[in-house]
Amino acid sequence: MTKSFRIKNNYSLYEALNYAKNNRLKLEIIVVEPYEENPRNIKFFEDNTIDLVEKLKLFSDDVKYIKRDNQFIDLLEDLNSVFIDKAYLRFDILLFDRIKKECLLRKINLFTVESNVFVPVLMASDKEEYSAKTIRNKINSKINDYRVSVLDNMPITIGEKEALRVLEDFIERKLTNYHLHNDPSLDYTSLLSPYLKYGFISPVTIYDNLAKVSNENKEAFLEELIVRRELAYNFVYFNPTYDQFKYMTYDWAYKSMNQHLKDERLYIYTKEDYINFNTHDPYFNAAMIEMVYTGRMHSYMRMYWCKKIIEWSKDYQEAYEIAIELNNYYFIDGFTPNGYCGVAWCFGKHDRAWTERPIFGKLRYMNDNGLKRKFHIEDYVVKMNEIRKGE
Ligand SMILES: Cc1cc2nc3c(=O)[nH]c(=O)nc-3n(C[C@H](O)[C@H](O)[C@H](O)COP(=O)(O)OP(=O)(O)OC[C@H]3O[C@@H](n4cnc5c(N)ncnc54)[C@H](O)[C@@H]3O)c2cc1C
Repeated sequence: MTKSFRIKNNYSLYEALNYAKNNRLKLEIIVVEPYEENPRNIKFFEDNTIDLVEKLKLFSDDVKYIKRDNQFIDLLEDLNSVFIDKAYLRFDILLFDRIKKECLLRKINLFTVESNVFVPVLMASDKEEYSAKTIRNKINSKINDYRVSVLDNMPITIGEKEALRVLEDFIERKLTNYHLHNDPSLDYTSLLSPYLKYGFISPVTIYDNLAKVSNENKEAFLEELIVRRELAYNFVYFNPTYDQFKYMTYDWAYKSMNQHLKDERLYIYTKEDYINFNTHDPYFNAAMIEMVYTGRMHSYMRMYWCKKIIEWSKDYQEAYEIAIELNNYYFIDGFTPNGYCGVAWCFGKHDRAWTERPIFGKLRYMNDNGLKRKFHIEDYVVKMNEIRKGE
């Protein structure tokens, strides 16, 4: 268990259970702690998995919880088969490759199972997709094929209960207003991303719960949850250089950035300026407060935040590296395909070329006038400053 730390709709667990049963084998469950750098994220994970081992003992009397740096290779001794959650990002692929090597050496069967997406990446598409438009129908047309419920009536963990509570709160209180979810001064997004990251809830479970209600905003939410999220999985799967500045976006974007590399930057800030809320822009500083103090950032502000880092860095590569570092360290939902894809999007990935302007070239531009025109953005600033005062 490396990515989906749950019972309900855990296809890896389900497949392993069935395989063991059908082949009269003993099931051993090894929970591998996720890759994290921020103690807050580790705490979020641990708080939500306090009873995971206990709940897994309902399936096997041999459950182990191990650190990533453990010499887990010894645990593979004498196994017949290994079932593992599919790896998408570099650190998970490295772990997977080590396991694969050992399995090959020891002639152990190795199965990978995708539990964190609705439609498995290779079933959705056989290539890197250009945009949401090119992948949308490919995914949506297969929803019914993969809407499968397993391990439905088993006791669930604290993390799963918490994810369901957050989902219920969203459905009851926010879904009706989801058409306003872009406004950072309001609170109409689901806040499900950290639970999705650790696989405390499956997109299939979310879909099933939404199916019970009728609401005209459902489609817009499912577009984010399924199409946008799985476009991000498509991106990191088919583009092994998804995390390298030089290879993560499109040729038109590189060409344009090269033409504007020498444009004068009115402001240059460092990473330290950002984390000390030390820029001239109150909206950006408020977004940084949200990030540093809460481990979240409103989805609209994430776009604005990264666009400003592009505007205020000495070059594009530095901007990319700062954005990725802050994203993965501070966000509880960081270190996910969504994070790499969201930052790459700010550099043109899955987007189109826009009217040329200084520094941004043909990359989509965002400024504070947009925030002021569209939203009650001052309310967002007040809210964040209150969070900061409350420490
Ligand atoms: C620069 C930048 C960085 C980002 N970094 C991350 C990150 O580290 N981790 C992360 O999970 N998301 C990231 N996103 C995508 C998006 O902003 C978050 O998923 C969203 O804000 C999470 O809040 P929510 O669960 O309340 O969203 P909701 O609006 O309730 O959406 C429901 C779910 O849909 C998915 N989703 C929503 N928007 C997107 C999107 N644009 N792309 C892909 N999936 C989406 C998420 O899984 C989300 O939980 C980033 C976007 C940008 C522009």
